[in-house]
Amino acid sequence: MSMERLNIAIDGPAGAGKSTISKAVAQELGILYLDTGAMYRALALKAIRLGIDPNDASRVVPMLPGTSVSVRSEGGVQRTLLDGEDVSGEIRTQQIAKGASDIGVIPEVRVKLAECQREIAKNADVVMEGREIGSYVIPQTPYKFYVTASSDERAARRLRELHAKGLELDKTHGQMKAEIEARDHTDSHRATAPLIRVPDAVYVDTTDMSLDEAVNFVLARIRRKS
Ligand code: C5P
Repeated sequence: MSMERLNIAIDGPAGAGKSTISKAVAQELGILYLDTGAMYRALALKAIRLGIDPNDASRVVPMLPGTSVSVRSEGGVQRTLLDGEDVSGEIRTQQIAKGASDIGVIPEVRVKLAECQREIAKNADVVMEGREIGSYVIPQTPYKFYVTASSDERAARRLRELHAKGLELDKTHGQMKAEIEARDHTDSHRATAPLIRVPDAVYVDTTDMSLDEAVNFVLARIRRKS
């Protein structure tokens, strides 16, 4: 007999507050948090280290069979491992974010990572954060959220986040907004599993919401269903 797992899908564009909300919801429910973007980032890092353009499917696809991406949870914090090496810190740059977006266009990449994510969802109660978790990875889950905010607000948040870590200190708001909009465009227009808002996902616009409000809103919707 299979046990019913609590699988929560949180999708949306970059900088909408998905990570913060997903982590808080997972912590509140006492379940696993999975940042799927980190897995795309890890693959992009490997390609870039090897001098492979993340856009170049003819070189990325042969790299996949010999590559392992895995995650570990340490005290509620995700560590992302690339071929066994902890790359959690190194994948947080804008260069790798762009590489992740490019490499995620390749169908073989999406199939590999989605399989791994489904395996995790089968074995654990999890809040899974990504772009197409509710539409493609675990479409059977009744718990789907689409979290978004204006691109102005998302750029401001991303910039604050990076600056707090001492990263990208010379980037302007305008540059960040342009990068975010470019990434939105790639993510929404790729052929395989694009970023879309599925009709059964609860829409959460965080532009004028505090983090607490957004978390409580999501939790209330989960509790209402379970
Ligand atoms: O969420 P994060 O900013 O780490 O994602 C980096 C990039 O990885 C995204 O812009 C997106 O193109 C890609 N990604 C994806 N599918 C996911 C998560 C991330 O294609 N489930």
